[in-house]
Amino acid sequence: MTESDEINWPWPISPKELLQQARVAAARAYAPYSRFVVGAALLLADGDVILGCNVENASYGMTICAERNAVGGMVARGRLDPVAIAVAGGDSGEPCPPCGACRQVLAEFNPDMIVLLESPQRIIAMRVKELLPLSFSLTGKI
Ligand SMILES: [Zn+2]
Repeated sequence: MTESDEINWPWPISPKELLQQARVAAARAYAPYSRFVVGAALLLADGDVILGCNVENASYGMTICAERNAVGGMVARGRLDPVAIAVAGGDSGEPCPPCGACRQVLAEFNPDMIVLLESPQRIIAMRVKELLPLSFSLTGKI
């Protein structure tokens, strides 16, 4: 799955609108060190959207990515039902795929979650399990 028109998308917000929400979140990023802003818009099963942005720190290792920030917001709201996440980063319009750590965190909540990425030509849509095959699991289930 690499084209947004190939996916089943039953939610009221469009993939393009979800990516626009990710851009809104990116504009709020706290990235004074790298100046690489990233935003994530996490879509829940009922259509709610939770935003996250990267938050850097002078102690670089404490930096948190936009995707994990959004997942934290979801859990804090008592929600555990993500269905899609749009990620937008940088200012080139090129795809900004989730890092490995974020892929593992996304897989924890829904390996079938759709990941939307922007590109100059089209919206890229892939499932988390495609971005992270054989993700770590305590049960060993794959
Ligand atoms: Zn990440």
